[in-house]
Amino acid sequence: MLTLEHQSAEDFRDTPYGRQLLSGFRCLLFAPGLEREFRRYLDRQARLAQCLGACLLLAVVGGYLYVERTLFAYSDPRWLLELTVLRLLQMVPGVAVLVITVLHSRVRVIANQLFPLLLVMVGAIAARIDIQYEVVQPEMAFRYGAGLLIVCSFFFLGITFWRALASAAAIILLDLIIASMILSSADMRVHWISVSYYVLLLVIGAVSRYVHEYSQREQFLVRKLLGWVAEHDAMSGLANRRSFDTALKQTLLQARRDRQPVALLLLDLDNFKAYNDNLGHPAGDALIRQFSEVLASFSRRPMDLAARVGGEEFALLLLNCDAQAAQVIAGQVLAALAERAIAHPASAQGPHVTASIGVAAWRHGQSAEQLYQAADAALYHAKQAGKNCYAAA
Ligand code: GH3
Ligand code: MG
Ligand code: MG
Repeated sequence: MLTLEHQSAEDFRDTPYGRQLLSGFRCLLFAPGLEREFRRYLDRQARLAQCLGACLLLAVVGGYLYVERTLFAYSDPRWLLELTVLRLLQMVPGVAVLVITVLHSRVRVIANQLFPLLLVMVGAIAARIDIQYEVVQPEMAFRYGAGLLIVCSFFFLGITFWRALASAAAIILLDLIIASMILSSADMRVHWISVSYYVLLLVIGAVSRYVHEYSQREQFLVRKLLGWVAEHDAMSGLANRRSFDTALKQTLLQARRDRQPVALLLLDLDNFKAYNDNLGHPAGDALIRQFSEVLASFSRRPMDLAARVGGEEFALLLLNCDAQAAQVIAGQVLAALAERAIAHPASAQGPHVTASIGVAAWRHGQSAEQLYQAADAALYHAKQAGKNCYAAA
């Protein structure tokens, strides 16, 4: 039996979110466009944690540097110099993350790709310092640094599971390489204890992160789907009346600002009641879907909007489209519908389904309501003129 969630996703398989919910994401990877959207969402959520993490890194490493310079002031000067350089290098990613935070969001998306790399850099330096401690100051070899960074790669920083896993694995690998270059074979045998501890942290981090990210992804899809449902008409997949009203106001604002023309087409199926009465309500619904497909193909540019504004009434909002171009498009919509040759058993206009269209071009100073009324009046004229035609306001 289908679960309720599966059934809901089934209803929305025409949306990218419904499709992704249905096809699943056990590998924690969405379709490319959706994956990019999810990463931006993850980044927005993690922004505060990223800043706090960077500040914490700067404070902790700065503190260590201060203490180490005091403790080792009279010991090996070469090691002290190297330690100072390593600690300063470790602070660079903290500064980088803080700088990235104030950048423009588009730059951030690219800069965020560097996070795993920065993390590996801090982790590798931490491993290097820990290993040096094992050689010169075994009683101070805490092995905390790299371990902490392995845990951090899975949490807080908004890095996706696979990248986090790669970062954590890279830290362990670099630790092994550095250790094998520095430690004697006797010390290396002891060092394997650290490595096993790092691997343990990686496994715990990876399992927890997998479970957490799976539910994050699910929540993301459900939220997106809810947003889609609020703005679209479920039957036709076109924008609903509410989002059409919002878009109309926004489009007019933009048109006023950029001095661009706007056209509104209102479309109504002819003799739809007779179609319903003859073929039944489900057939009427199917016709609404077919006509919606035709109309959607005329919403070609990002700011164009095709909407279902009533039972068998539709709207096409076109920014940067003047009265003449709008009339050409109205003619093309009627031609595209005629080309489909959908049989109508009881139409005075002929054997096929037809529609009537009212076309209105926006005049400066006209409100959204006035533009809508003008298109509605034009539609009325088209009906009066014998249907299956368009009329201009
Ligand atoms: P005209 O040519 O003048 O436009 O006449 P008409 O019959 O198309 O228009 P009218 O407004 O008289 O009828 C519209 C019908 O659309 C009435 C209603 O039952 C039907 N309708 C409204 N919403 C839906 C729907 O979602 N599905 C179906 N199947 N029918 C619907
Ligand atoms: Mg009608
Ligand atoms: Mg009607």
